Amino acid sequence: MSSTLWLRLPAAVPASPVPVPKADPNLPPAELLTASFAKAASQRKHLRVARSASSAAATAAATAAAAAGSEGVVLLINAVVLDTQAGAYLPNLQRVALRGGVIAALGPMPGQTQGQATAGVQQAQQEPGDTQAADAQPVGATAAGAAAPPPVAMPAEAEAELEGGVVAARQAGVAAAAALLAGLEPLSSDPRGPLAGAPAVVVDCAGAVLMPGLCDAHVHVTAITADLAALRSHSEAYVAARAGLVLGGMLARGFTTVRDAGGADFGLAQAVEEGAVLGPRILFTGHALSQTGGHGDFRGRGEDACACGAALRGIGRVCDGIPEVRKAARDELRRGAHCIKIMASGGVASPTDRLTNTQFSESELKAIVEEAEAAGTYVCAHAYTPAAILRAVRCGVRCIEHGNYLDPHTATEMAFRGAYLVPTLVTYQELARGGEAAGMPKELVAKVGDALEAGLRSLAVARDHGVVMCFGSDLLGDLHPAQADELCLRARVLPAVEVVKSATVHCAELFNATLTLGRVRAGFTADLLLLAPGVDPLADVTALAAPGGAGVAAVWREGLLAKAPYAPGRLPALQRGAHDEVLAMGDWWQHNERLFGGAAAC
Ligand SMILES: [Zn+2]
Ligand SMILES: [Zn+2]
Repeated sequence: MSSTLWLRLPAAVPASPVPVPKADPNLPPAELLTASFAKAASQRKHLRVARSASSAAATAAATAAAAAGSEGVVLLINAVVLDTQAGAYLPNLQRVALRGGVIAALGPMPGQTQGQATAGVQQAQQEPGDTQAADAQPVGATAAGAAAPPPVAMPAEAEAELEGGVVAARQAGVAAAAALLAGLEPLSSDPRGPLAGAPAVVVDCAGAVLMPGLCDAHVHVTAITADLAALRSHSEAYVAARAGLVLGGMLARGFTTVRDAGGADFGLAQAVEEGAVLGPRILFTGHALSQTGGHGDFRGRGEDACACGAALRGIGRVCDGIPEVRKAARDELRRGAHCIKIMASGGVASPTDRLTNTQFSESELKAIVEEAEAAGTYVCAHAYTPAAILRAVRCGVRCIEHGNYLDPHTATEMAFRGAYLVPTLVTYQELARGGEAAGMPKELVAKVGDALEAGLRSLAVARDHGVVMCFGSDLLGDLHPAQADELCLRARVLPAVEVVKSATVHCAELFNATLTLGRVRAGFTADLLLLAPGVDPLADVTALAAPGGAGVAAVWREGLLAKAPYAPGRLPALQRGAHDEVLAMGDWWQHNERLFGGAAAC
């Protein structure tokens, strides 16, 4: 007999946000969904091998599941689902089935009629072909649904383990799980077939908000110190090990995908994919391309050694002239770069340039863009001033990093060309507060100047001129725990719904992943956050930035539970370190074996 594991979070009803329902342009075509299922399946196979190597019980469970032709399902019930595309919550309490690392199906809880909980609330305009997004409603409407009696009661023995703010888990019968799966249909393109009868792990979200994992489009996970010049003399093994801690903290804060804008390589990304390191998926740019004396050249004036190398511990590599920049771009692409990162202006952390410098000639910029586009990808450019931004976007750069001194004319040009902006305001706040303590030389901290104030103004300029903004943080060394504070800085200028979109659907667009990332939707990657009771990001997005990741109760990355609060005596996957930072521990596999092994056992 299959068994069912119950988890439950305490009840919560979010307050009313401002709804902005609209049509969804990203209805996924079936053939692409099939591809995403195939990718998830191959990764899953790899993960299962890794798990079975560490546990004979998991081997037996995996064998049993394979023999039965079915794979365990994680079923989240009674969730208030945040539709990030519509910028509103779905009406009614939802159930969400995860299978093979993908969201297999999504639908209202049984026993609720569609719209029952939303009587008297203005209905969103129906768009043919996309009822899911068109049905989006303010969460105030959902609150009425949350107040209704739960359609399926929790088993009494699971209730007995509930404590304030603590998840309880216990084996229970399967009949209730089967009833919950009934009528929940996966997409017709899902090769795994129907869900009914699958072994299930049931998580009762009890009215808490379920949203997609956050994306951060600008991190440096190997920047284990704010002294980037000193980084060059560390052991590469040491840098990689410390990067693992940085990654664990990011995942605990709710970031499930990060774009590394200089430093991480295919090895670190592979370690995360395999589960050897607990962290967000890494889209790496490899080494940032920099001219001699540019923002990626960390040599002091007295140093003459070549900076053209590409060691893990380095953020950038130096190249000059068209043949060298082409070769450097091709080399980073050869190593699997997601896109090419360039330094198109001076910066804070580099010792010999000014923020106001423009860097690389226009012919060099065009050559790099040509190489990236030839490989089917794009260029993102570190740039502060209107002059540097204009040169970059006119040469074909798709994404501007920082952009603190953006002016209306430049913003108009960016919007016209469809260029994205990745502000990284939190790094200026944190460098000014604690940059020296984190190891950055005093004269470099002084280069921060008014970058934070200018950056806050740039948010309004970008918004007013229609520039799409993505979330970025750009923190170094011990400053990493402030990552989610970027949400708070942006909320000073932008509505919460725009801040949420910047870290979900806008990043998915930038990453060319609109069919897999940034939404809670069937066919999408199962990167999910279950928020702490009472956290309503559309009403107050800063609640996501609570110290130590406390606003995020649970995290799934590709369907595997990476973070959850546990009852006393149970081992968490994550532990608290210094500075209230949450760190990854080594029981990541046991943690999921307990769920998947139990779910698959016969
Ligand atoms: Zn930069
Ligand atoms: Zn950076």
